[in-house]
Amino acid sequence: MNWWQSSLQDIFKNLSTSQQGLTDDSAKSRLTEVGPNELIEKKRKPPLTIFLNQFKDFMIVVLLAAAVIAGIAGDLTDTLIIAVIVVLNAIVGFVQENKAEEAMEALKKISALHAQVRRNGSRVTLPAAELVPGDMVELEAGNVVPADIRLAEVHGLRINESALTGESVPAEKSDRALPEAELSLGDRINMAYKSTLVTNGRAVGVVIATGMSTEIGSIAKMLQQGEDVTPLQKRMADFGSKLSYLVLLICVVFFGVGYLMDEDPLNMLLTSISLAVAAIPEALPALITVALASGAKRLVKKNALIRKLSAVETLGSVTFICSDKTGTLTQNKMKVVRSEDDSAETLIDGLSAFECCLALNHDVKASADKKFTGDPTEIALIEFFHERHPGGGSEKRIAQLERVAELPFDSERKLMTTLHKFNDRFLVTCKGAVESVIAILADQTKAASILDKATESAKDGIRVIAFAYKVVDHFPGTINSENIERGLVFAGLAGMIDPPREEAKVAIGECKTAGIKVVMITGDHPATAAYVARQVGMLSDGELVVTGKELQQMSDDEFGEKVEKVRVYARVSPEQKLRIVKTLQSKKHFVSMTGDGVNDAPSLKAANIGVAMGITGTDVSKEASDMVLLDDNFATIVKAVKEGRHIYDNIRKFVKYIMTCNGAEIWTMFLAPLVGLPIPLLPIHILWINLVTDGLPGLALGSEAAEPDMMKRPPRKTNESLFAGGIGFHIAWVGLLMAGVTLGTEAWAVHSQMPHWQTMVFMVLSLSQLGHVMGIRSDRQSLFRLGLFSNKPLLGAVLFTFILQVGVIYLPVANKIFKTQPLTIYELFISIALSLVVLVAVEIEKLFKRRPVAH
Ligand code: ATP
Repeated sequence: MNWWQSSLQDIFKNLSTSQQGLTDDSAKSRLTEVGPNELIEKKRKPPLTIFLNQFKDFMIVVLLAAAVIAGIAGDLTDTLIIAVIVVLNAIVGFVQENKAEEAMEALKKISALHAQVRRNGSRVTLPAAELVPGDMVELEAGNVVPADIRLAEVHGLRINESALTGESVPAEKSDRALPEAELSLGDRINMAYKSTLVTNGRAVGVVIATGMSTEIGSIAKMLQQGEDVTPLQKRMADFGSKLSYLVLLICVVFFGVGYLMDEDPLNMLLTSISLAVAAIPEALPALITVALASGAKRLVKKNALIRKLSAVETLGSVTFICSDKTGTLTQNKMKVVRSEDDSAETLIDGLSAFECCLALNHDVKASADKKFTGDPTEIALIEFFHERHPGGGSEKRIAQLERVAELPFDSERKLMTTLHKFNDRFLVTCKGAVESVIAILADQTKAASILDKATESAKDGIRVIAFAYKVVDHFPGTINSENIERGLVFAGLAGMIDPPREEAKVAIGECKTAGIKVVMITGDHPATAAYVARQVGMLSDGELVVTGKELQQMSDDEFGEKVEKVRVYARVSPEQKLRIVKTLQSKKHFVSMTGDGVNDAPSLKAANIGVAMGITGTDVSKEASDMVLLDDNFATIVKAVKEGRHIYDNIRKFVKYIMTCNGAEIWTMFLAPLVGLPIPLLPIHILWINLVTDGLPGLALGSEAAEPDMMKRPPRKTNESLFAGGIGFHIAWVGLLMAGVTLGTEAWAVHSQMPHWQTMVFMVLSLSQLGHVMGIRSDRQSLFRLGLFSNKPLLGAVLFTFILQVGVIYLPVANKIFKTQPLTIYELFISIALSLVVLVAVEIEKLFKRRPVAH
């Protein structure tokens, strides 16, 4: 069927539907038939593939091959044990990767789009994935079109179809059938296509295709959306591959030295490959994903929905937070506290022109129990009208003035206008920002005094709305701003307050100590904005308030010089937000920007972290964002920044731990033959350490609480290396120390001809790592200060690993498998004591870090 050519009746018949939409039952059966309305971007890897992929690692394959050869040549138990450990390793890798995939999937689900649909004759909101052909869908400005739709009823609808046609100017839509059979996508003006953006107006239409059958679904390359690899993951993967070469080189040398020392070549081969498997941190990228994804999960609980995983990582680097005022820094609970009725006439019985404007110029809906829903500014005005006119009498009279046309409010014009039948004439009512209303008055003589009054109020933090009207004889030909919003008569002013959010004040205080600048960007009057900014503590002396007009007149250089000092931008249009973001970025700032409207999308995209509003935000702004605030609250942004810093800290600790351990293993094995000692450990010992001592406590580091000074230090530079801030140094020296202690143990035990020397070496290296993990829980605070029990998962993991380690040494079965011997109490005591050396050294390192630096 040619959808744009056919009449609506034919389409309804073809799809067995009607203006009232489908019933739930028929929708359900269609959904099972055609499948969910989703684009298949990337098939999720089936668990089995994830599991098998774990064995794809080249080193693992080499290890298994070597184990088989060694087994054939000598001891088969060795081969078996290595196989078991490799499988266990694969299981751990699988669990981690699977968890990461699941977390990503869950994130996608909660950030899914919704659509307004007619089902069973009434209007419901459903996840867009549940739409089926035949559904009647309502569209309005700010929506992302949820499926391919033939439009049935159009009111000033314009759609940005650039995703499909490349055309960036929004297309004007119509609901009439088109005569031509052959039409390019852009010319099918009675159709709306999935994933395009509604910029103006509203419409109703019938779904004709969903999911992969839609136009966008058929464009293959759109579906291959790049994977969300975060900068950190990328750097880690690069680093990992470079490190692999180094480790391999060391292992080759190690093998060569052993060979020259007349060690058994097969055994040496196995040992060096085990060492390579243990020392190459192949799991790090996956572990970073898990850390980021679980951070994203925690953030949802705090009302911040992460749309791009990279945001979790980069949140900690934010240096500037640009925030809307209304609803984000304030409560969005407006109340009219001042008013001035300047009407020159009474329009209808007992109601002045001002009151008529109050009662007519809004889009507030009242439920049966007199609960209002809509724009809080308008709700405040309506409530104010009802206060002036309690009882229903005036409402009935007002209702007679039927609305015949309107020009909805937008942040560019800062005006809203309605047109009503007024006996045999027409009444135009208008409200908006004072400057905007003054600009369209017929009589300019009072302009200055009105402006003065408004500015006076604005200085007390009051938002002033001005009202104007006119009566015209004829219905104006075209309904647009140029035609209607001119030559009006002033009617009065209403001033309202919107109290700031208490929690915003606290959050701004935190930002200050954390080196993050907070900037307010608002459409409101500069005096009102400055008042609120002072109240929440974000504007102090010497900092600037700039208006949109001033901004327009500033050259790029001039603005560049001032931008870091500006704390409030007032009366700005959404377009100017983009300039603010770009200028801050040109000063090397890392910017977070909030927005809710269609016009905010470009600035949200350009910002390093675009933040959309979950409650008041449009779909378009949400699509463009990296993070959505489910409660529209400024404090939530700061919570997210905190969480971002916390996660990054924990990732760094994790890397510190793993790399130090791996370093120690390499040093121990590599240096022993060079100082004339026997090869310290067997392949299974190394694999065991890699699997158990490295793995469990390392994971539990992720549960470490935030550092107390986390919000007292400046933001991290985005290009900062993961090894910055002394971590690289720590890895080097602690790794060497750990190896030194282990080799010292070996030297002493071998020279004293202790029969259990190898088990002692095994014990000291394993336990030193456990000591190390306890030591690095905090970067600066001592373990005693933190308290042993403040990270219970880690304490549990350490104790559990300790018990396993003791088991490996004392259980007769384990003795056979791991070729260990039970230690005497004396040997055990010595081993534990030596293992504490690393912990003590790390505590001393932190002591130095804590000492105030002398100037
Ligand atoms: P934010 O701080 O989030 O930018 P804002 O409400 O101050 O919010 P806009 O919504 O762009 O910013 O509003 C700009 C100005 O337009 C307001 O200061 C007010 O004077 C006027 N205004 C706001 N809402 C309406 C409305 N519904 N009808 C007419 N004028 C309005």
